Amino acid sequence: MKEIKVKDIVQMTNGELVVGNEDLICSDFSRDTREIQKGDIYIGIKGERFDGSDFWKEALDNGAGAVIIQGKEITPEEKEAYADKTIVMVENTLQALHKIAEYKRSLYNIPVVAITGSVGKTSTKDIIANVVKMKYKTLKTEGNRNNNIGLPFTILGLKDHEAMVIEMGMNHLGEIDLLTRIAKPTLAVITNIGTSHIGNLGSRENILKAKLEILNGMEEPKIVINNDNDLLHNWYETNKSNIEIHTYGIQNRSEVMAKEINLKQESSTFIAEEKDEKTEITVPVGGEHFVYNALSAVKVGEILNIDSELIQQGISSFELTKKRMEIRKLENGATLINDSYNASYEAMKASIEYLAKYEANRRIAVLGDMFELGEYSIDLHTKVGEDIAQNNIDILMCTGELSKYIIEGAKKLNNKVNATMFKDKEEIYEKLKEEIKKDDVILVKASNGMKFFEICQKL
Ligand code: ADP
Repeated sequence: MKEIKVKDIVQMTNGELVVGNEDLICSDFSRDTREIQKGDIYIGIKGERFDGSDFWKEALDNGAGAVIIQGKEITPEEKEAYADKTIVMVENTLQALHKIAEYKRSLYNIPVVAITGSVGKTSTKDIIANVVKMKYKTLKTEGNRNNNIGLPFTILGLKDHEAMVIEMGMNHLGEIDLLTRIAKPTLAVITNIGTSHIGNLGSRENILKAKLEILNGMEEPKIVINNDNDLLHNWYETNKSNIEIHTYGIQNRSEVMAKEINLKQESSTFIAEEKDEKTEITVPVGGEHFVYNALSAVKVGEILNIDSELIQQGISSFELTKKRMEIRKLENGATLINDSYNASYEAMKASIEYLAKYEANRRIAVLGDMFELGEYSIDLHTKVGEDIAQNNIDILMCTGELSKYIIEGAKKLNNKVNATMFKDKEEIYEKLKEEIKKDDVILVKASNGMKFFEICQKL
């Protein structure tokens, strides 16, 4: 039986049943009183601004069957008023959530693919999930709910699923360790080791170490890696004899490789080659980085014994999560590439290379600050500028504290580059409005906190 009862929760969390029914079956969980469905089990999570446990009455009034909360005194009157409901008091609701998710996971003997990496986690997760679902009923992380709250809640959504594809994110050492011990993946994927969050982690080697924590929760470590990434490649070379490592790549010799790559504006085709097997793949999103993401899905599909036709179909029908590289025609005929959701150095570089190959009259890059790069900030913004100068970009527009280094980097390599620093987004928008012509293409990209999507919305 794959069900969890209140008494199991009380036991595993060392909690106290304040009122209610210990045999109540807990099948759906919620952390948001506004989204509660009848019978849900509400877990009051403490956030930065609010303590979810404060809303226990609201949760019950909105239909929750039970609440799991911390740090509340329940009066005799309240007990009486909610006598037909269930209240479980625990020491720490976040830890309780982790325990329950870990237990739920233990009830399922299914393939669990966990994806991490500096960039491309969500995109890769979505492609892989689309492939896996061709054969198995699959539960996947929605959006990018990849942290210590989103991941356990995803697991709690397991019903009659035959596979799970989840994403794991981190800002610090130890975070992936926690997630993997809850999710117990049967197969791990690392998309790349770049520089996201390097401000917290100190070095790329530490980022590698943090991502490799994913192995800690695996009974039999089995991992798929991007073999063209320098650090992953080196790690592979030193560890391939004692860990089951599968590789994909375009340059370095890998188990599965992309050949005859044809990059088009809004899609790509390539041949996935593994030994004598050749599979024609179409990826419905442009850019070489998506060839990598698709390659990882080919490898995962094959490890999970999914037929190559189904792998092809899964990849070609995958849909990008919103706000990642949205391409839209503007009224005057120009094309807008809205990639304003987040920015790391690697993603910036990928987007600039993509823009450079875009067929257009002029290629305009509107770029802003990349956050969380710590002492590497100046260096990496300068490198973005150099990438602009080295690629076929006609106009660069920036705003932000750190973006002046993008401009500097571009001008250092090519002092004729058309690069301008603006006071704010409004000024950029005004300039774009008068500047853009039919057949121009505009890339808008910065860390989400820069809110560059506002520029896109107005255009
Ligand atoms: P994450 O979930 O790791 O933040 P996303 O899939 O949301 O990554 O993608 C973030 C950004 O990185 C997007 O701009 C996307 O176009 C770009 N991107 C996606 N995959 C890759 C990749 N393999 N390498 C570099 N950039 C990528």
